[in-house]
Amino acid sequence: MSFKPPRGMRDYLPEDLAKRRFIESCIRRLFRLYGYEEVETPAVEGYELLAAKVGEETRRSMYVFEDLKGRRLALRPEGTAPVARLVATRLRTAPKPLRLGYIWDFYRYDEPQFGRYRRFYQGGFELIGVDSVEADVEVLCIAADLFRMLRLPGVWFRVSHVGVLRSLLAFYGYGEDVQNRVLGLADKKMYGEIFKLLDELGSPGSLVDTVSRVVKLRGFDRRRVLGEARKVLEGFTGASEGLGRLSDVLDLLSEVHPDVRVMVDLGFARGLEYYTGIVFEVFVEGFDIALAGGGRYDRLIEVYGGEPTPAVGFSPGVDRILAVMDRLGVSPTCKPGRILLVTPVSEGKLREAFKVACRLRAEGIPATLDVKGRRLRSTLSYADRMGFRYVAIIGEEASEGYVTLRDMDTRTQEKIPVEELPSKLSKFKLPETLNLETPGKQFLEGL
Ligand code: AMP
Repeated sequence: MSFKPPRGMRDYLPEDLAKRRFIESCIRRLFRLYGYEEVETPAVEGYELLAAKVGEETRRSMYVFEDLKGRRLALRPEGTAPVARLVATRLRTAPKPLRLGYIWDFYRYDEPQFGRYRRFYQGGFELIGVDSVEADVEVLCIAADLFRMLRLPGVWFRVSHVGVLRSLLAFYGYGEDVQNRVLGLADKKMYGEIFKLLDELGSPGSLVDTVSRVVKLRGFDRRRVLGEARKVLEGFTGASEGLGRLSDVLDLLSEVHPDVRVMVDLGFARGLEYYTGIVFEVFVEGFDIALAGGGRYDRLIEVYGGEPTPAVGFSPGVDRILAVMDRLGVSPTCKPGRILLVTPVSEGKLREAFKVACRLRAEGIPATLDVKGRRLRSTLSYADRMGFRYVAIIGEEASEGYVTLRDMDTRTQEKIPVEELPSKLSKFKLPETLNLETPGKQFLEGL
């Protein structure tokens, strides 16, 4: 019997979890800054719903199972489909635009390797109900802000517009099925396979020629790349519209975020089939895995029975960001902040120590009771190893209302009245989270 978590899935020990929480807190800060409200859906959904538009690659990597009544269910491999389901159903009549956010775990039967797991966390920002350049740029700005907040060096964006290749193929009469296959191959940079497929389908040489020229168009000089693309795509109305949109989006982005490095790459697509407009991924120099990805999906919500609703979003990969930060040595140092250990000198003083700890907590000061009756020396060495900043020693003098407060950093100690403890430790006081007169109000304001 194996006592390890399943392959590709992992446990988070306190320090790992603290690091994850740091990334999550950056994402949540952006929820607040930009006005996104968090939602949560079950990790398990009907297979058909999750499989509808995710693309062949993701579909094949889904964890699919039957429940005891024979219903076909799956673990979510990504977050946009569940959010689209919410918008199509319970949020159908909600005023638009809607800004929804999430930080959930996802499951994919990927081959485990650096930055690739079978269970991983992603944040998500979905802006629903607007089809404007500004909406596209808002999402790109959030991504830029997130990576600036994380202070990762060498960040760059790869951006494209799936409408370019889709319209080109549609112009030659190819429907969604062929378009999806071509984009899926482009996502994996398998351009040779694209030409083979088009050949097999008996495509005219002019299409193969145009596609082969388009997928090679890339570079950080957006004006040059888009200029060349315009020439290649002259006469293809739909594809040219896609280019125009991409150009408008990048112009506005460079105005508000001139420092963001953007590579226009018309051979770049994303495997998820629901994308209809701009698509992008975020990279860090030296790593060939995307740290975040997103794009516009204007026709997904109607797949779930909703009104036709334009939408755009993006999703940062929390674990992958952490893996890259760790590798670069720039991950947040998240030592647990242990503050005060309250310890009795003997078994007989345990009750008194218990009361002191209660009294401190009532005042919002974190206090951990050393419930293990052991010698003071062992307790102090335990406090050292655990990184407690102070130890309150409850000894004989407790009966006169005194405790000994030991500073573990300076290794000095002083005898002080119990009632002075809260003011002595006031800098560690936790912020109020509950105000009993208006329950929840302060909590919400503090979020
Ligand atoms: P996707 O839904 O494929 O666009 O993924 C969005 C982001 O989630 C990616 O850019 C990655 O950062 C992250 N991600 C995707 N798949 C995995 C995985 N197997 N393990 C860890 N992170 C992943």
